Amino acid sequence: MTKSKTIIEAGWNLDNSYARLPKSFFTSHNPTPVRAPKLVIFNDSLAASLGLKNEALKSEEGVEVFAGNQIPEGSSPLAQAYAGHQFGHFTMLGDGRAILLGEQITPQGERFDIQLKGSGRTPYSRGGDGRAALGPMLREYIISEAMHALGIPTTRSLAVVSTGETVIRETDLPGAILTRIAASHLRVGTFEYAAKWGTVEELRALADYTIKRHYPNIDATENRYLSLLREVIKRLAKLIAKWQLVGFIHGVMNTDNMTISGETIDYGPCAFMDTYDPATVFSSIDRQGRYAYSNQPKMAGWNLARFAEALLQLLHDDQEEAVKLAQDTILEFPDLYRHHWLEGMRAKLGIINEEQQDESLIEDLLNMMHKYRADFTNTFRALTFEKLEDTDLHGTEEFVQWTERWKARLDRQQESKVSSLELMKNSNPAVIPRNHRVEEALEAAEQGDFSVMERLLEVLSNPFAHSPEQTEYTTVSEPSDRPYRTFCGT
Ligand code: AMP
Ligand code: MG
Repeated sequence: MTKSKTIIEAGWNLDNSYARLPKSFFTSHNPTPVRAPKLVIFNDSLAASLGLKNEALKSEEGVEVFAGNQIPEGSSPLAQAYAGHQFGHFTMLGDGRAILLGEQITPQGERFDIQLKGSGRTPYSRGGDGRAALGPMLREYIISEAMHALGIPTTRSLAVVSTGETVIRETDLPGAILTRIAASHLRVGTFEYAAKWGTVEELRALADYTIKRHYPNIDATENRYLSLLREVIKRLAKLIAKWQLVGFIHGVMNTDNMTISGETIDYGPCAFMDTYDPATVFSSIDRQGRYAYSNQPKMAGWNLARFAEALLQLLHDDQEEAVKLAQDTILEFPDLYRHHWLEGMRAKLGIINEEQQDESLIEDLLNMMHKYRADFTNTFRALTFEKLEDTDLHGTEEFVQWTERWKARLDRQQESKVSSLELMKNSNPAVIPRNHRVEEALEAAEQGDFSVMERLLEVLSNPFAHSPEQTEYTTVSEPSDRPYRTFCGT
């Protein structure tokens, strides 16, 4: 049959290890075909790294896979079951509009989930239509790829197809499907699901699977499930520090949106902070500011506590002992986070060795940035290139004094000015996906013009280049009377 021939030539090399977990963790389910799929954007370099053949995938038949109209060879499509705490409230969830096609084994032997998002209803859809709109899927594509380029662990985006169908939201919108690539889609919520509704054997099967897939080095440790908790804490401490250091606000850090692999997932209402304000919230549904910028580390700790609770049955036969072990381990998170954050902040200021007073030097700068409503990214960029006149802090006596302290601090380290500058250039991005630029790209795309988005993606693909072409992308948006708001895009 010609169809499967093309698909083999596309380089699909799928395994379905998730489908070998106990049946309660998923439902085998095919994507729902769409009427008139068209490839809108395709990630050539990602495809190549996955061992996929770009030309075959971009052909009419190849695109059928990204639309859910064709199942690639070797795939056992399924929807995953999971639960989660949404804004603090526990609930049953699951892939309501996503299908896992399988795991692509790359030529290097790595394993990545291939997931279609927006591919139709599943048994976990509840009231939803299982579909996604073009704007939000392109938004996820842009921001996830920008995060990857910033060196932040994240799921990635391989392709977006428009479906030729309309999705009904507040208005009628063009439908689309995103192909998402992830180290896995295991979430804190997957463990919560197992702990709440599964047997202890099922929970153990999930934990063993996770260890094998993401943490093989702890396989032989004495209490491997406690080690699992500790490893996840370490990865998330690192991840959240990276978010804070670029001003990324996830917006919906529910436990179902917190991976066990330590990758950022689920780009719904996320956005990058421009003006530095710890209380910044963009999501229209986060009315209490639960997931505000400055709360992100605390909320990650809260989510990790839910993970620890879900693991309790595995940690010790005596549940009181188990609770004690979990609590002691969870307590490691704030210090680990702080360590990574401080390390990152030192780098942003070109500081290579460590001094006790560094913390107050950093905090004093942030306080000034808050007070004078300075742009987060551009302040660090201006410090990097010693263009202090480009900061919103310029001209204040406080800033002059702070700058002297900072320069004196740099003079106290042995390393050369050159290595300090290199460190700053590599730690302070020239460009981030600024909200007005992302909106502009999406608006053009919805009108059928993808060139604006392509240029933006190009600029964002090397955020530390500090190239002349990037300059125009560093400007902040015109002040507006209304704060920027994001929507979940469901
Ligand atoms: P999210 O807020 O994107 O993390 O989604 C929370 C839950 O709602 C997940 O279980 C999703 O699968 C589900 N969901 C979101 N949008 C839809 C939709 N349009 N149709 C069905 N389920 C959805
Ligand atoms: Mg989600």
